[in-house]
Amino acid sequence: MFWIALQKGYDFIDAILLDFTTEDIKHFLNDKNSSYYNVIYKSENGIIEREERHSSGEFFVPLPRHELFKNDKYSFPFSKQKLFSTVLTNFGCPYKCTFCVVNRFNFKERSVSAVIEELKFVNKINIKEVVFKDQTFAANSKKAELLCQEMVNEGIKISWTCFSRIDLMNEPLLLKMKSAGCHTIIFGIETANSRLLSTFNKLLDINKIKEVVRLCKSLNIKTVGTFIIGLPGDDRLSIEMTITSAKECCFDYASFNIFTPAYGTEIRNRLLKESAIDNNVSFMDRGISYPTHIKGCLSQKQIWLLRRAAILKFYFDPVYIFKKIKDCKTIFDAMNMLNQGLGVLRTLI
Ligand code: SF4
Repeated sequence: MFWIALQKGYDFIDAILLDFTTEDIKHFLNDKNSSYYNVIYKSENGIIEREERHSSGEFFVPLPRHELFKNDKYSFPFSKQKLFSTVLTNFGCPYKCTFCVVNRFNFKERSVSAVIEELKFVNKINIKEVVFKDQTFAANSKKAELLCQEMVNEGIKISWTCFSRIDLMNEPLLLKMKSAGCHTIIFGIETANSRLLSTFNKLLDINKIKEVVRLCKSLNIKTVGTFIIGLPGDDRLSIEMTITSAKECCFDYASFNIFTPAYGTEIRNRLLKESAIDNNVSFMDRGISYPTHIKGCLSQKQIWLLRRAAILKFYFDPVYIFKKIKDCKTIFDAMNMLNQGLGVLRTLI
C-alpha cells in the first residue's frame, strides 16, 4: 500500500519502515537478504514489499534525541508554552474502526518507567510542554492512571495534550490526568449518527459525550472534538446532525475533516469493490482534501460545502468568539488563538 510513496517521485525516500517498534530496521540495514518484515524498499528489481507482521505487548525504544528538535519555530495549536516535544506511551490501537489505518499495527505499550525516564529528560532540557502522540491515550486506563501518578510522584513539571476516546474517560482518570498536567484532550467523535458509528465499528455511546465534556470543563481541561464529513452513508441530514451536536456538546474546538479512504483500511477495500472510489486516490490525509468518494447521497461539491458550513457554524459565532477572547490569559495565548483563527480561515479559502 505505501509503495506508492516510493514510486511517485519521492526520490529522497529509499525505504519505508511500517513499524518502528520491531527490530526490522536493524535487520534491513545490516543485511537486506535476511528475514525481516514491515519494510518496503527500492531495489534493482523494483519496489520490494516485505510482509507486514506487527508485534504486540510491551515495546522498547531508546531515549529519543529531543534536544535535536528544540526549535521554537515548531508549533502545536493547543500548546500552552512555546517549546514542546512529542512523546509516545503506546503505538497502534486496540479498537477496530474500519475507516482507520492505525489498528492494523496492533496495540503495544511502553513501560511506565521508560516514559517517565523520557519525560524527566524532556524536563531536564527545559521543555515544559508535551503532546502525547498516542492515537488513544489511556487505551489501557490502569496504566495511564499509573503513569499520571508517577509523573506527580517524580515532580515532572509539564503541561500536555493527548488524543483519546470519550468512552475511556471517567472522573478518577481525568482527575489524575489533570494533576499530572493535562490541559487539552482531543477526542475522535466522527459523526453524531449512531447507525454510521456502528457501521464503521466506532461503537461510541453518543450520550456519554456531553457528560465527559462537562466533566472536563469542571476540571478546566479543554476538549477538542474531531468529526468526519462525508462518510460513506452520510447524507445532508446526518451531516447537519453532526454539525449541530459539535456545537451542542460544547467542545472548546472542533475539527471537521473530509472522509478519505486511507490506504490499508477496511472501508477503502469495500469502496474499491463497490467502485465508489478511484483506485488512484492515493493521499491519506483526512483534513482538507477534496472529497474522493464518488458514489453516495451527496456530490463531492456538496460535501465540500457542508464542511465549510460546519466550520462557519462552529467558529463564526459571536458568543464563541467572545468566550475565546475572554479565555486568553497571556500574550502567548492571544498569539496562539490568532494563529488558530487564521488557520481556520485558511481552510475556508
Ligand atoms: S479511530 Fe481512534 S479508536 Fe478507532 S481504531 Fe483509529 S485510533 Fe483507534
